Amino acid sequence: MRETYLPYGKQWLDEDDIKAVVDVLQSDYLTTGPKIAEFEKAFAQCVDAKFAVAISNGTAALHAACYAAGITVGDEVITSPITFAASANAVLYCGGTPVFADIDTATYNIDPQEIRKKITDKTKAIIPVHFSGQPCDMDEIERIAKEYNLIVIEDAAHAVGADYKGKLIGGISDMTTFSFHPVKHITTGEGGMITTNNEDIYQKLLLFRSHGITRDKDRMLDQQGPWYYEQLELGYNYRMTDIQAALGLSQLNKADKFLHRRREIADMYTEAFKDTTALRVPFQQNGCNSSWHLYVIQLNLERLSFDRKKFFEAIHRENIGVNVHYLPVYKHPYYQQNGYREVKCLHSENLYERIISLPIFPKMTNQDIDDVITSVKTILERNEK
Ligand SMILES: *Cc1c(COP(=O)(O)O)cnc(C)c1O
Repeated sequence: MRETYLPYGKQWLDEDDIKAVVDVLQSDYLTTGPKIAEFEKAFAQCVDAKFAVAISNGTAALHAACYAAGITVGDEVITSPITFAASANAVLYCGGTPVFADIDTATYNIDPQEIRKKITDKTKAIIPVHFSGQPCDMDEIERIAKEYNLIVIEDAAHAVGADYKGKLIGGISDMTTFSFHPVKHITTGEGGMITTNNEDIYQKLLLFRSHGITRDKDRMLDQQGPWYYEQLELGYNYRMTDIQAALGLSQLNKADKFLHRRREIADMYTEAFKDTTALRVPFQQNGCNSSWHLYVIQLNLERLSFDRKKFFEAIHRENIGVNVHYLPVYKHPYYQQNGYREVKCLHSENLYERIISLPIFPKMTNQDIDDVITSVKTILERNEK
């Protein structure tokens, strides 16, 4: 057994990050200062998007994107059940109705054919989630969106640096949202970003982030003096601080190194488990590169004399902090109590019974990786039928 607990994910901060934060603390602007625009510009460049809007967290990013998409009472938005609740909650914040389309059993991402089945006259948008960092079938999703005039908002909280057929995730559809929570690819403590190539959407996102208030003379109805500003929309205070933006900028310098290490770890796991029939390793799509936010194994329960819970407990006893991502969103009590009791996405529910997320984060040592591999193999061998 390991002497120290190995979490499933963890940030990596160095002296440069600390210095960047301290510099801001000693500067004139703690918020709404120059670091925000700097971070936005660098991030947009990093994911090949025209515009980026920094925001207080990844959930606020989704809320802002749903708002900018015009989602309101009566609108339906199709998303995946295998995601963090925020992907669907953002639709509810706008008064819309999340509709769940089942996943593809190979990629664990939303299945475009299932999206088609869920489209009605009320459908306004699709929120594909690049689960674990594996890109969704964006060609097919964009095709459906075009056919039915739907807006696409990619939830790329797991997908900083992932690419789909040569294009980086972030510049493909109408909007893409990111999270900088400490378990994600780069961190600002709390933080998020929305990227877009559309100038109108960009302007809407900026308004929404800060109360719907503008000082832009061209947009105001009146001009009463230098002090004057107007609230044009009902926005929120979803601003990111300069302290966070400075940390984000500094982290962004290391994003390539982080991503490279995540890919290395994933390759080591895949190689180690290639002959382990009691589990299935993640699927790797041709022409796409995952950013490996998560490394999700699927237990082959037919070959095992125990269930996922027993496996989870056994590996935690080895001090290895595996996790489960995710309970299908509509299975949460809030959703069950608010109209989703009849929803059944079979593939998602089956997957949920079998999945385990193994530790994967850039600072893992080769010894950490070996510990995980040995523990997984030993526990499975002991319990094989
Ligand atoms: C982390 C995450 C979010 C929310 O991001 P926060 O920054 O924690 O608000 C949204 N969607 C997915 C898929 C996530 O993993």
